[in-house]
Amino acid sequence: MRRQRNVKIVATLGPASSTYETIKALHEAGADVFRLNMSHGSHDEIAERHKIIRQIEDELSSPIAILADLQGPKLRVGTFANEAEDLVEGAKFRLDLDEAPGDINRVCLPHKEIFAALKPGANLLVNDGKIRLQVEDCGDDYANCVVTTGGTISNRKGVNVPDVVLPLAALSAKDKKDLEFVCELGVDWLALSFVQRPADVLEAREMVRGRASVLSKIEKPAAVQDFDAILDVSDGIMVARGDLGVELPVQNVPPIQKRLIRRCRRDAKPVIVATQMLESMIESPMPTRAEVSDVATAIYEGSDAIMLSAESAAGEYPIEAVTTMNNVAIEVENDPTYREVIEASRHVKGESVADAIVAAAREIAETTEISAICCFSQSGTTALKVARERPRVPIVAMTSRRGTARRLALTWGTTTVITEEFNRFKSSVLASVGAVKRMGLATEKDQVVVTAGVPFNIPGTTNIVRVAPCDERLIYASEPE
Ligand code: ATP
Ligand code: MG
Ligand code: MG
Repeated sequence: MRRQRNVKIVATLGPASSTYETIKALHEAGADVFRLNMSHGSHDEIAERHKIIRQIEDELSSPIAILADLQGPKLRVGTFANEAEDLVEGAKFRLDLDEAPGDINRVCLPHKEIFAALKPGANLLVNDGKIRLQVEDCGDDYANCVVTTGGTISNRKGVNVPDVVLPLAALSAKDKKDLEFVCELGVDWLALSFVQRPADVLEAREMVRGRASVLSKIEKPAAVQDFDAILDVSDGIMVARGDLGVELPVQNVPPIQKRLIRRCRRDAKPVIVATQMLESMIESPMPTRAEVSDVATAIYEGSDAIMLSAESAAGEYPIEAVTTMNNVAIEVENDPTYREVIEASRHVKGESVADAIVAAAREIAETTEISAICCFSQSGTTALKVARERPRVPIVAMTSRRGTARRLALTWGTTTVITEEFNRFKSSVLASVGAVKRMGLATEKDQVVVTAGVPFNIPGTTNIVRVAPCDERLIYASEPE
């Protein structure tokens, strides 16, 4: 679906957004990518949502990316008899290994290894740091805590222990099972939580065996430290601000966000800014001014995508939240300052023929009347390079591979058209012109830039840039085979 904006929107699905009607309405309101969080919901629920998304994609002929987010070695509390409890400051609260539902006095923390590593005085941060508990005394299977910051604790909320180094593997047994399940189901992106080193990503890649692109969530100080090496082995990045802002002081998050976005763009890999973007919209139809400003900032910084978590998964206003993001994006991208900022921050790494071709395509589009840049891309790499240029005209990626089309739904400014496989340049130009006119981006009188690789269908051969008229008769008359 062609949008009126370049930044993409990722919406997490959950209990508030699991029906056909809601998911379709979310896509129509602006969600380009749906996130399935493996931390919540059974395999049956995940499969059901996956089926609905594919059905909508089929009906609308609009490639949609599905991103499955593995829980990773995240610590979570168990469940509560009453779903939730209000913990007040100064109260005692016990964590233990007893699987019985929790209450106001205790809850299960089903991670034996934590209790061995805890010490009196350690702080436990629950639900992205909203609730704080301090350990008073602890043993092999319990920790008695005092509530130092109160709040509502509910089923399976996350727990961070920033003061303690925990001996946890990158992929738990559950992650490995989930990974196989979603790869077989067919997802486009697989997000890895709590990545700490490149080896964590490589281990997952080996299991994925090319069935999905791999996205690393940056939410650990170690990952920030070793970011370049992690980016090298990842296909995309998520700035996972929830855990990042707990593992590091919150004020460190904005500069990290800026730096990560810039590096990802340099390497032509998509980056998502995630967590609490419109948090108040979980309960309110109107966002706060600060949230609107946060969404705008991520867009000004050049992020490929912005994400909704609980707002769309469990909130009362999932569609309003997507609409808000969409409206903010349109406004920001129409601001002349946005153009200035985006163009001033173009730092291209790489000197391949393809890099030169896409730079030329962007320059042509800036100096002449061009309606769109159409790029033939089988693996998606050329489309990513065109997007890195952040051109002023729409990017239309042409591919015969459905997987590539879906994955590119996460990439800045890219609309994808699924074509047949071509072996003549003339037919590819005709297909581009047809697509651009059908999308309403051009008329007969206009012209487009087409990039392609000849010979066709060999990845990594982009070597042609052509300015083509949108009038088919002229193409028939003038275009070499
Ligand atoms: P992560 O660290 O992976 O972001 P999270 O617990 O923060 O995990 P989100 O997907 O960010 O999960 O969603 C935020 C909140 O929305 C969750 O804490 C949970 O309360 C609720 N939620 C999200 N998805 C679901 C779901 N499928 N089922 C139940 N609740 C969900
Ligand atoms: Mg997280
Ligand atoms: Mg979250």
